[in-house]
Amino acid sequence: MKDDTGIREYQTMVDHWVKEVGVRYFSELTNLGILLEEAGEVARIMTRVYGDQSFKREEPAPDLGDELADLMFVLVCIANQTGVDLPEALARNLAKKSARDKTRHWNNPKLFGGGDPGSAPGSLDD
Ligand SMILES: [Mg+2]
Repeated sequence: MKDDTGIREYQTMVDHWVKEVGVRYFSELTNLGILLEEAGEVARIMTRVYGDQSFKREEPAPDLGDELADLMFVLVCIANQTGVDLPEALARNLAKKSARDKTRHWNNPKLFGGGDPGSAPGSLDD
């Protein structure tokens, strides 16, 4: 895999991998469960590296990049098996966010210091 592999190319690579190595896609609901498991693995690292939790002494060093890659892999599997064109969906989604939030975050005083750190912008309605 090249360093600059595009999303569409990655979707194709994952499709080939699933069919050649993984035999077939797991069901959509199984992949949803796996996506949640992988999100939990990302959360476990984030809460320990950036949050207040700590790792057990005997745990191996965390690899956030590997866990994000696991999460993206199963997300791409779900996109592939449900017919989602991710580059098109990502472009459409960013355009939607750009139009909807054109001034929203600039009008959020919490982003200019002194806000409640527990209420991150965009966390409730994105
Ligand atoms: Mg994982």
